[in-house]
Amino acid sequence: MVTVSRDLPAPADLGTDLLALPEGSPLQLDLQLESVMEGVYVTGTVRGRAAGQCGRCLTEIELDVDADLQELYAYPGKRPEGEQDEDDLRELEGDLLDLEPALRDAVVPALPFQPVCRDDCPGLCSECGARLADDPDHHHDVVDPRWSALQGLALDEGGATEDRREPAGSRTDAQEEN
Ligand SMILES: [Zn+2]
Ligand SMILES: [Zn+2]
Repeated sequence: MVTVSRDLPAPADLGTDLLALPEGSPLQLDLQLESVMEGVYVTGTVRGRAAGQCGRCLTEIELDVDADLQELYAYPGKRPEGEQDEDDLRELEGDLLDLEPALRDAVVPALPFQPVCRDDCPGLCSECGARLADDPDHHHDVVDPRWSALQGLALDEGGATEDRREPAGSRTDAQEEN
């Protein structure tokens, strides 16, 4: 068994739309390579730091990623018994292991499907898009359509009052004539 520790730059597209390990960011690999009948069995861990956005409030977030990696690299032509799916089979290319697909298989499922900045992130205001975590008392005075109808009534009453002033005015005129 051979133990390998490597620091490698992350390949492109290691993650999801919301959360990914930035291309070129440091990946720390601690792997054990074990020679088996069919080839080389690789196990170990991949560590890195993912960056992305909170799925609720869109704040930038960073997250440590620690994923387990297990992969059999078969000698060319030596398919392990019972292994029928060619897509899942990784072959050794000479003495080289192509780690990138195995990295992807290990890291992507280890990322949270719905990343959040914190478990109780309240998200964004549905009215104005403000971050509710910044302003817990945030609210809007929502005018019920029935109340806005009453506001219209109040305006009409004001108009009616003005209408009543005119006869009062004419009465004043009448008094001046007397
Ligand atoms: Zn959030
Ligand atoms: Zn708002």
